[in-house]
Amino acid sequence: MREKPAVIIGAGPAGLAAGYEFVCRGRFPVILERASTVGGISRTESYRDFLFDIGGHRFFTRNEEIRQLWEDMLGGDFLTVDRLSRIYYRGKLFNYPLRPVNALRNLGPLESLRVVLSYCRAGLFPKPREDNFEEWVVNRFGERLYKTFFKTYTEKVWGIPCHEIGADWAAQRIKGLSLLVAVSNALFGGQQAKSLIEQFSYPRLGPGMMWQRFRERIEAAGGEVRLQSEVSALHHHDSNIKAVEYTTAAGVQNLCGDSYISSMPLPGLVRLFKPRAPADVLAAAGRLAFRSFIIVVLVIDREELFPDQWLYIHSPKVKVGRVQNFKNWSRFMVPEPGRTSIGLEYFCNEHDATWELSDESLVELATREMEEMGFGPASLVSDSHVVRESHAYPVYDAGYRENLETVRRYLDRFVNLQTVGRNGMHRYNNMDHAMQTGILAARNFSGETHDIWTVNEEKSYLEEARAAEETPAIQEKILERAFARMDKFAFAVAVGAVCGILVISATLWIISRGGDVLNSHLRLLAQYFIGYTVTVRGGFIAFAYTFFWGFLFGWLFAYLRNLFLAIYLYRIKRKAEMLSLKDFFDNY
Ligand SMILES: Cc1cc2nc3c(=O)[nH]c(=O)nc-3n(C[C@H](O)[C@H](O)[C@H](O)COP(=O)(O)OP(=O)(O)OC[C@H]3O[C@@H](n4cnc5c(N)ncnc54)[C@H](O)[C@@H]3O)c2cc1C
Repeated sequence: MREKPAVIIGAGPAGLAAGYEFVCRGRFPVILERASTVGGISRTESYRDFLFDIGGHRFFTRNEEIRQLWEDMLGGDFLTVDRLSRIYYRGKLFNYPLRPVNALRNLGPLESLRVVLSYCRAGLFPKPREDNFEEWVVNRFGERLYKTFFKTYTEKVWGIPCHEIGADWAAQRIKGLSLLVAVSNALFGGQQAKSLIEQFSYPRLGPGMMWQRFRERIEAAGGEVRLQSEVSALHHHDSNIKAVEYTTAAGVQNLCGDSYISSMPLPGLVRLFKPRAPADVLAAAGRLAFRSFIIVVLVIDREELFPDQWLYIHSPKVKVGRVQNFKNWSRFMVPEPGRTSIGLEYFCNEHDATWELSDESLVELATREMEEMGFGPASLVSDSHVVRESHAYPVYDAGYRENLETVRRYLDRFVNLQTVGRNGMHRYNNMDHAMQTGILAARNFSGETHDIWTVNEEKSYLEEARAAEETPAIQEKILERAFARMDKFAFAVAVGAVCGILVISATLWIISRGGDVLNSHLRLLAQYFIGYTVTVRGGFIAFAYTFFWGFLFGWLFAYLRNLFLAIYLYRIKRKAEMLSLKDFFDNY
């Protein structure tokens, strides 16, 4: 008889990683997936042989175990892509982080001057409070840069004004920004920062290829992935999940497992409990919100449109938030080299006006906006396809923490259930973090004890922890010393004293040698030090003079050194924050 399976809800990155970990440990997982394909939000869709993601999916991780796993799965099918993604604003393409020449050319001298002035103003007169995203950005980059590069796009993505987005939310997404790390990256050319900016990995046939491989490996090792199997109930008793009910084309089925992992969105999961979850838990789960996403794929009869993998559309004149150009991710994403497929991404809420537009209207909107932005006339569009994703982004609104706590407290009662992944934890987990939570959950069911909720919260976890502890430690020590503030007074006294001692010693040495003291070159010092003679008394006079000037020079040197260092560190920190904001955009 076969053992009771480990039941996993969802065959996205988290569920598949959990399933793979189970088979590697000799356990029998059954993954139930509602969709007809694996990969969840990270799947690859295919339309008439044009392949596309639900938003472009970069493979990037700081976790060595996950990186290795990706490599093992795909080997030579894992491409390294040189990244190009610019900002479209007022008909121009801006590099990000901003490059002075590119920005000056695109903005023009007058607007550039305004940007610089507002940047300086923000530095000199920062807003006293940083309660929201708007204040956070304005304090760092100035009002004009904020309006040009952050406001419109962020509001398109989240559908709420920037002053309603909490600063802690921004800070959470711009984490890991220690000044030392920033300086270390600037000086030693941090590997992670470099790769994050310039390159990423991508499967030859899109991310779906990765998840298909996971599926194959799981099945080859005896596990099961059941597609078109939507979990519709969780039966529980005595703090234990006893069975799940799932619906397929053949009807409703039951599956009894001994351990359960769920990666489906939390509100949906809580609604499936039988007996029902308490009313306050259901209400809290119902208040967990999600931002939705629509991608309109247009097939264009043109070989090249733009060289970027994607463009951020910061122009307020169009609704589209981002435009993907899939052949620039991998040329294998399009079946014919003479054609291009672009994906226009619209951020919306489920059932709002954009969501409710018919596919035809969405294609019409996308085509019109593509034309307005100057990417080509509507006549070039030869085909189109629309995909909607209702649970694209967990929303971190004012009440989400409390609601999540209520739901977690309820779920924690069940000894054989763990929730993982992005929507399963209502957290911005990217693919790597989603996978990591799945793997750790599977390990927990094998007797290990990991706190899944610390993944993607603190750097101090697994490989990240080790890397952070080992590598930069030496650099940090060097930097801490090199960049420590100089004590102006102490340095001035030291320089003054050394200079004074040198002169007095030289004077005494000449005197002690005897001979033609009057012809000594030292005597010339009298031109600068009034009253100086090559005598013991003169030596003390020279000591007083040189101490005074040495003190002055030392103090000035220390002052200027501290000042330049402060400016240098400030610049590096701002630059690092700029880069993190790039990451902040990317992670959507
Ligand atoms: C536009 C966009 C761009 C992104 N870009 C990147 C990127 O560049 N790099 C990156 O690392 N990450 C990116 N992400 C994040 C990435 O998509 C997610 O981190 C990842 O897909 C989360 O995996 P998951 O397994 O937790 O959840 P999901 O991918 O959501 O998988 C959950 C699965 O559960 C299934 N399910 C739901 N309900 C049921 C049910 N009742 N019964 C059975 N199955 C069910 C769903 O069908 C789905 O397949 C992006 C996300 C978005 C929205």
